[in-house]
Amino acid sequence: MDLSVIIPIYNEEENIPALYERLRGVLDPMPLPEGYEFIFINDGSRDQSLPLIQTLALRDPRVRFINFSRNFGHQIAVTAGLDRAEGEAVVIIDADLQDPPELIPQLHQKLREGYEVVYAKRRSRQGESAAKKLTAKLFYRILASITHISIPVDTGDFRVISRKVVEALRRMPEQNKFIRGQISWIGYRQTYLEYDRAERAGGETGYTYRKMLKLALDGITAFSDVPLKAATVGGFLVSGVAFLVMLYTLYARFVSHDYQPGWASLMVSILFLGGVQLIAVGIIGEYMARLSANVRQRPLYIVSESNLPELPLPPQR
Ligand code: UDP
Ligand code: MG
Repeated sequence: MDLSVIIPIYNEEENIPALYERLRGVLDPMPLPEGYEFIFINDGSRDQSLPLIQTLALRDPRVRFINFSRNFGHQIAVTAGLDRAEGEAVVIIDADLQDPPELIPQLHQKLREGYEVVYAKRRSRQGESAAKKLTAKLFYRILASITHISIPVDTGDFRVISRKVVEALRRMPEQNKFIRGQISWIGYRQTYLEYDRAERAGGETGYTYRKMLKLALDGITAFSDVPLKAATVGGFLVSGVAFLVMLYTLYARFVSHDYQPGWASLMVSILFLGGVQLIAVGIIGEYMARLSANVRQRPLYIVSESNLPELPLPPQR
């Protein structure tokens, strides 16, 4: 198998037929002598996405699908696709046609030139709210500044990766996936192409602000300890200031006898210290929650039906 195309699906009934047609239009003329496959992962859609995919699968044996027992999230859906993709190269693409299928031949060409990862970087984004663009931009830059590995900015999961990278990803057991970060962490020769991100073709975004916040925190906690260290450093700074104020308070009370009832300063310092402490505890909590999720070792997802088998895991090390 030359190429697998992984497509996570969450309520995409309006886009699936057009997506399938455009993908075929792009892939059929490509030089892929060993053939290609589509892997649709239905991530608990509540619309007609699953029957649409199943109909496609009846007509076209290259259409494979995995149906999750509920909504597990975009990153888990992509992971399930990676677990079953057989291609020598694997494309990860959104179903809403925001990632243009027409870019795949160029991405694949770069892979043939000896790269293991070719990702597609967003030169511009259309049809997304100013708030979404701003938070995304901020997030990518904050992440880049607090992590040691270089995770490319303004880049989603739209990319082509080689078999080597797929096998490496499959050996990374973390529960809280941030796939674009994991791929950067893996290394090898990576490069990118730029594209203009289109508007969503139909339907609505499945990424609520809640899901985006989770993804952002998964990315940060998985690839940086800076927030934890910032809590420590902040704690020391605040304690240092508090200690000086304490010395002054004692001096004023017992030596100079020059002190006021001081309600305002009391309130301010209690509120400030309370805030700092809660933030620090919250940061620790974010890491703790992920630690405990990993200790539980639950399967990442539950499949309710599929027309393709899970591939055996490569041996560890
Ligand atoms: N998606 C998914 N599970 C979810 C949310 C989204 O599989 O819980 C899929 C969705 O169908 C699409 C891709 O992930 O193929 C990207 O989602 P979306 O377009 O909603 O995100 P956005 O482009 O708005 O960031
Ligand atoms: Mg989208």
